[in-house]
Amino acid sequence: MKVTETQILESLKQIVDPDLKKDIVSLGFVKDLKIEDRSISFKINLTTPACPLKSEFKKKAEEIIKRTFPEIETVNVEITAEVKKAERPEGFLEVLPSAKNIVAVGSGKGGVGKSTVAVNLATALSVLGGKVGLLDADIYGPSVSMMLKTSHKPIVVGDKIVPLKSNGIFYVSMGFLIEEETPIIWRGPLVSRAIEQLISDVDWPELDYLIVDLPPGTGDAQLTICQRVPVTGAVIVSTPNDVALSTAKRGLVMFEKMNVPILGIIENMSYFVCPHCGKESEIFTKGMAEKEAEKIGVSCLGKIPIEGKIAESGERGIPIVNLYPSSETAKAFIKAAESLAQEISKINLKG
Ligand code: ADP
Repeated sequence: MKVTETQILESLKQIVDPDLKKDIVSLGFVKDLKIEDRSISFKINLTTPACPLKSEFKKKAEEIIKRTFPEIETVNVEITAEVKKAERPEGFLEVLPSAKNIVAVGSGKGGVGKSTVAVNLATALSVLGGKVGLLDADIYGPSVSMMLKTSHKPIVVGDKIVPLKSNGIFYVSMGFLIEEETPIIWRGPLVSRAIEQLISDVDWPELDYLIVDLPPGTGDAQLTICQRVPVTGAVIVSTPNDVALSTAKRGLVMFEKMNVPILGIIENMSYFVCPHCGKESEIFTKGMAEKEAEKIGVSCLGKIPIEGKIAESGERGIPIVNLYPSSETAKAFIKAAESLAQEISKINLKG
């Protein structure tokens, strides 16, 4: 008897996405199912290319088909991904229209590694197959241009700024619009104008994820950006010590007040791995941010170690995810990017 489409779909319902908590058939992931003689092919179309379960899904699907339908000789499963566009409140449809999801990266205070995390998250999402943009809105120290090594400024075509491309990601920086030497007191009005320009006048290509590196703290600039931009969710970067954590909590409250969902916390400079013996040491209290996150009911997306090579990576203008891809730190960023993408998928599924 010939195997039917219904039978195949029924058997594939055994595969459940642990994050979205539904089976891949009900989620509508199975596409282009073809049954020809003794061969079957189909696609599993995920909600993000950054899904860590890609190869597991493929393996499971092949196993299930072979086990359930022994008469089938070849099974061809292709894993694809299509990132969903986050729903936007009315009035925001035309703001950064080509960005499907906008992620604000904030911190309670400066120096916790917010920009380093933003750049490496963006790079990691791109390495995993996403189309990624990075908007450096850090007025106090727009450091993204340095971390991505481009000395030239972007060109303007018509009345739009064309983003630069480096390490697979498109980016623009506040540094393009405000000279770093401009004294902070002059920056106020310039900053509002520059923020407005960065939001309205950049010709972004189609993007799955636009990461916005916010200024540290919870001042006017952060509020303006969150009011003007349809942010899908926010990531808070904190080091695992009391001062950083208590200021990080202020950041959380700010996002909540602005109705921006919290995607999670990233604990940076979490621990130290000895480059000689590989032993882990805890400089602060490793996992402190994770515990706080649990208490407040948000996810801990990742723990990034203290890494000497991050300074080198900054100087060379190559994010550590690309400079030393097999390092523990690069792997930690990839894992954090996967968790971030999953949190976004969850929000979009609910929406
Ligand atoms: P912020 O954006 O929060 O002000 P930065 O990303 O500019 O912080 O980082 C501040 C300094 O800390 C930089 O010199 C950066 O190279 C360093 N740094 C950030 N994260 C790490 C890390 N995990 N290990 C070692 N140094 C780090």
